[in-house]
Amino acid sequence: MLTSPIEIQREITTQRMLFQGPNKPHTNHIEQVPLSLSDGEILVKLTLATICGSDLHTYEGRRGCATPAVLGHEGVGIVQSVGDGADESLIGKRVTWTLTDTCGCCKPCTEWNIPQKCDHLFKYGHSQLSEGNGFNGCFASHITLRKGTHLVVIPDTLPDNFVVPANCALATMVAVIEPISQNPVPAKKIMIQGAGLLGVYGSALLKHYGVEEIWVTDVIQDRLDLVAEFGAKTILSSELHTLDRSSFDAVIEVAGVSQIIADGLKLLRPGGMYIWAGMVHDQTPLDILGVDIVKGCVNVIGLHNYSAEHLDQGIVFLDQTKDQFPWDKLVSIPLKLSELDKAIKLTQQRKWHRVSVSPNSCQ
Ligand SMILES: [Zn+2]
Ligand SMILES: [Zn+2]
Repeated sequence: MLTSPIEIQREITTQRMLFQGPNKPHTNHIEQVPLSLSDGEILVKLTLATICGSDLHTYEGRRGCATPAVLGHEGVGIVQSVGDGADESLIGKRVTWTLTDTCGCCKPCTEWNIPQKCDHLFKYGHSQLSEGNGFNGCFASHITLRKGTHLVVIPDTLPDNFVVPANCALATMVAVIEPISQNPVPAKKIMIQGAGLLGVYGSALLKHYGVEEIWVTDVIQDRLDLVAEFGAKTILSSELHTLDRSSFDAVIEVAGVSQIIADGLKLLRPGGMYIWAGMVHDQTPLDILGVDIVKGCVNVIGLHNYSAEHLDQGIVFLDQTKDQFPWDKLVSIPLKLSELDKAIKLTQQRKWHRVSVSPNSCQ
């Protein structure tokens, strides 16, 4: 049954951890609010959220953000109510959602098929508190999803901790490997540069899709040991020179370090594909020769974020591989939402790919 605006006016108890500026403690804001939903909006009661690397960029001051704000964009939760025009059958369903809201009308959304670059893009967890009804990030008890946000109902077979980073890292990696899978010449040997969460998902996806030889390189041995459990052969970056040059059909950069691009080019065979997805900040000058791209006939592709179908594919992939890979090793056991600052410190220690908070635990 559609929840009428009058019913939605009832007061609910909410909690938000308000970001107050780089390296400052969050403010634990608990209040009774009459949550009103606009047409097409969906209210989700969050059950689990994780701290992404980009949250850390904001918290540590490398990425600008107006304050106060509610950070956090990786989350899962239960649909609590919907505004007029939204799908009422979603009420009570466990869902995740695209981390961006798009207009569906502009050229990037329609003609160019790159909705993640929508002219009117809204990103959850990166916006001012004054945007919408103020529930626009995942480090909170509730989040209001806008009309243009794509929701995915999560199969009951998948626990929250398997799914929670899917709407960021996993969906991005599904988008990253898409050009490889669409290439008429099948890739048999692929190198992933970077054994962070993107590298883990990349390895598992390529394994699942039948790529014969998947390599992951990094500077951290512990990360390589873990990604080996997701289908990859591993090698420290300092040992890359021992591999055959010009022998890889594709190389994927997800490390965010531009100095490794020259190494990747050496590994690529003529006509190979080089996908760049990790260099999302300004400190990425390139020291390579154009001739190596031209005479190597290298197909260079840059990718950022993803579109709705990639999240759909990611959830299907997780369900198909839930018993194949140790997904439970990626996300920490949850801390309380009120312990967000402690969870951020844990994230800074890099022992987990993701540290989680439970948004509706005891306040
Ligand atoms: Zn993220
Ligand atoms: Zn648009």
